[in-house]
Amino acid sequence: MTDPHLHTLLSLTAADALGAATEFKTPEAIRARYGETFTDYQPGSVFGFAPGEGTDDSQMTVATLLGYARGEGLEGVRLALRAWLGAGPPDVGSLTRAALSHGTPDGGARAWTASGFESAGNGGLMRVAAVWIAGFTGGALARESAVVTALTHADPRCVHASVFLTAFLQALSAEATYRVGAEVALAAMDTFDARDALLDTGIFGLGTREAHAAFRERDRGARAGVRARVRSGLDGHVTSQGGFVLDTLEAAVAHARAHTTWPACVEPAVLGGDDSDTVACVVGAIAGARGLPIPEHLLPPLRLGHGWPGWEQAWACTEHFPAVVAGARRG
Ligand SMILES: [Mg+2]
Repeated sequence: MTDPHLHTLLSLTAADALGAATEFKTPEAIRARYGETFTDYQPGSVFGFAPGEGTDDSQMTVATLLGYARGEGLEGVRLALRAWLGAGPPDVGSLTRAALSHGTPDGGARAWTASGFESAGNGGLMRVAAVWIAGFTGGALARESAVVTALTHADPRCVHASVFLTAFLQALSAEATYRVGAEVALAAMDTFDARDALLDTGIFGLGTREAHAAFRERDRGARAGVRARVRSGLDGHVTSQGGFVLDTLEAAVAHARAHTTWPACVEPAVLGGDDSDTVACVVGAIAGARGLPIPEHLLPPLRLGHGWPGWEQAWACTEHFPAVVAGARRG
């Protein structure tokens, strides 16, 4: 059996690459073009990704791992994400671009402030599996998940959703059942002081006092929101596959629940359209941590749809991911 962390990285990338073709399309348009099932990489990405290429979600997951390999902690991750952005990727989320463009650790808090504390997209959640893949566990996993997310997405809903997700991956990998794993991860989120971690790393500081106050005010409500949407996802409810972080989390928890095969988890996310690549990517992380085997034919063609310092676009993921994971764990 492949290392569970490497398996999860391949799984989330393959799912993201499947979803690349259907991103921003409606379920009706997807069925009209591709049919009722979706079993292989397809053309049609609005960003021009070739079949088999992972989008910004898996690219930024890999960039985060390359960041940990630098051995400089959070600052290394931020610089690696900047290197990814600096090479001109085809697709960048608006808050991600705004946050990283500040060039300081508090860029995510500043970008959230500039959004009027409205912006709570899924751009942190989509790449946070990297923290678990890098080998963090327990309290360190919660802390890194919070601060790595807040580098671009400082809304407490984004931060707590990420703390939940990586704790869920850890629990599932340890063979917890789906529902028990989710409850264990919600408890981990509830007992972790994310605000303190953001203060400690300078994401909240003198220049971002307003963001700190807004986070404190909304902290409890945000946790309640994550709890509610995880539980409705466990019951199979999907509100939307739009870019709002709690919609993505709920949809991913719903799609990946109680299925016994990888395609049964991933396919509904791909066929659901809208932000299908990101929902699929989060589903892929969960299915990967559960150890569900990825269909063999999806692995050889798998690439990332962007090259930047540390990664070449033509590289096969199966060939180069082992070194990425090993490097992050040494870092
Ligand atoms: Mg994407």
